Amino acid sequence: SQRDDICSRGKLVAGVKYDAPPFGYLDDAGNPVGFDVDIVKEVQKDLSTFCKKTIGLELKQVVSKNRQEFIQNGSIDMAAATTTATFARMDSVDFSNIYFVDGQRLLVKSDSSIKSVKDLAGKKVGTAQGSTSETNIKAASPKALVQSFAQYTDAFVALQQGRVDAVTTDSTILLGLRASAEKPADYKIVGAFFSSEPYGIIVKQDDSKWRNFVNETLSRVGSDGTYKKIFSKWFGKGTKYVLTDPKSQITVPAQYPVRR
Ligand code: GLU
Repeated sequence: SQRDDICSRGKLVAGVKYDAPPFGYLDDAGNPVGFDVDIVKEVQKDLSTFCKKTIGLELKQVVSKNRQEFIQNGSIDMAAATTTATFARMDSVDFSNIYFVDGQRLLVKSDSSIKSVKDLAGKKVGTAQGSTSETNIKAASPKALVQSFAQYTDAFVALQQGRVDAVTTDSTILLGLRASAEKPADYKIVGAFFSSEPYGIIVKQDDSKWRNFVNETLSRVGSDGTYKKIFSKWFGKGTKYVLTDPKSQITVPAQYPVRR
């Protein structure tokens, strides 16, 4: 199992986003930080306990388009990277239990007349290659001119420069992009949610010991208060990314397995 390989190697190699604040992005010093990075660190912590030695952590950048490939070719052990668990993706990777739920919306300039997906015919809409956002927007608004970028940050730069009329992806990433702007008030998130995006951590297929290990960390952080702490650190009152109306945050159902 990858779990035992990590123990002998002494290091966890995890994929995270650099383009999806506040899940994964670079801080002012150039270090990857965010909600997903903090979740990865909890897995690292449990690995150190399980392996009975200090397990190091190497973070590698992934983008929506390459994260499954990085899992399949073994360049990373896991990715916590805003990845929606879809059955199509389960053809190439396995998913942990769900640790965050979001949905897709639109980010536009404050003075834009776009109010919902109904207003997108003939409009340029930026998103990321290989994302569910790309698939969903094409279905929700077949007449929109969808432009797919490697990274969400590129799509947002295109919006700032007027090269696209809207950016679309999961609402919390839009919140993060908006908050990263020099003047967040110049942008607004509009329209109703038009998808459901349950996030899972991806791992290689058919390795239940490793996948269950990751699930045990999610289970632990959900029940010992760590998840709540991480959630309020990134999305709580007084933060840059305050989520006033979160769709959901995990609570571990009483029927989940426990370690005894
Ligand atoms: N959660 C969606 C997806 O997995 C959009 C965000 C992303 O591209 O990471 O495709």
